[in-house]
Amino acid sequence: MAGARIFVTWPMEPAARATLEAVGTVETSPSEDEAPQEELARRMATADALIPTGAHRVSGAVIAAAPRLRVIAVAAVGYNLIDVAAATRRGILVTNTPGVLTETTADLAWGLMLATARRVVEADRFVRAGQWKGVTWSLLLGDDVHRATLGIIGFGRIGKAIARRARGFDMPVLYHARHPDPEAEALGAAYRSKRRLLGESDFVVLAVPLTAETRGLIGEAELALMQPTAFLVNIARGPVVDEAALVRALREHRIAGAGLDVFEDEPRVHPGLLELDQVVLTPHVGSASRATRLAMATRAAENCAAALRGERPPNLVNPDALETPKELPKV
Ligand code: NAP
Repeated sequence: MAGARIFVTWPMEPAARATLEAVGTVETSPSEDEAPQEELARRMATADALIPTGAHRVSGAVIAAAPRLRVIAVAAVGYNLIDVAAATRRGILVTNTPGVLTETTADLAWGLMLATARRVVEADRFVRAGQWKGVTWSLLLGDDVHRATLGIIGFGRIGKAIARRARGFDMPVLYHARHPDPEAEALGAAYRSKRRLLGESDFVVLAVPLTAETRGLIGEAELALMQPTAFLVNIARGPVVDEAALVRALREHRIAGAGLDVFEDEPRVHPGLLELDQVVLTPHVGSASRATRLAMATRAAENCAAALRGERPPNLVNPDALETPKELPKV
């Protein structure tokens, strides 16, 4: 589609932008803040393509306000903020960026495991506050990560990358997903029901997509199955965990701590979490390395350009949209 108008919700990296300029005119949002829905809807009046980050909600109302839209190329693997059903009904292709952020996100999961168990953030605050008066025997005692049991819920690309790193820490690895995984044995990971995994793990790491089925996957009942010495790490999506139940479990020391990169109602964080020293919080930066952001932008641009050229984009998430007859743009 020659002369397409493409809207990108952040000031896109020049290398990725060049891919888009080969197929159309690129307009980028001047700021990285989440564009308000009305602003996004206004931009959609003339756009043929939209490239949002994973943090941008693209509601049915925004899609309804986009008469020309052909593709929503999300720069993230999780596309839970996009109304995919509304897009599919209109024949709008939705794509994501799987794979390019796997290792970077697995790194952060490990960062959160280490930071919570070894109290790294608490120790940093202690030193900065001038409270350190000398090395004492029992100062800031934490828990070992090496040889602890790692339980991973969601054993896809990221879950497996987290498991691979456990070898260097000599850790037994358990995993849970809806189906046993053929690659698990080679990774030294043993399948468990969710219930058994929660009871046996020293670290429970969540790496599932947010779906109707995984919303609230970890609530009061699941937290009650965890050991009081165990840590919960969530790099998946906030609503996978019932935050109020988590705060109660942490306050009552029914689990040892939590490392959280994602939250139920971002950027709001449950005030109970902010009060607790045994919690490490990061602002949804799982894939935020310089190299990976560029790779995500590039992949999103490639998906977008393919769709605008009338090709099947490599990371299409709603193939049914290809079957939907396109409406002609209203002029
Ligand atoms: P993936 O390769 O699709 O893996 C997802 C895994 O979850 C699969 O093993 C799947 O296996 C399992 N799963 C799905 N539904 C489940 C359920 N109801 N119960 C248990 N397991 C279930 O995805 P990925 O690339 O690893 O990414 C996973 C998620 O991480 C993304 O969707 C995204 O939301 C999140 N993420 C977050 C960040 C961040 O910045 N914090 C960065 C990247 C990704 P079965 O189908 O066999 O159940």
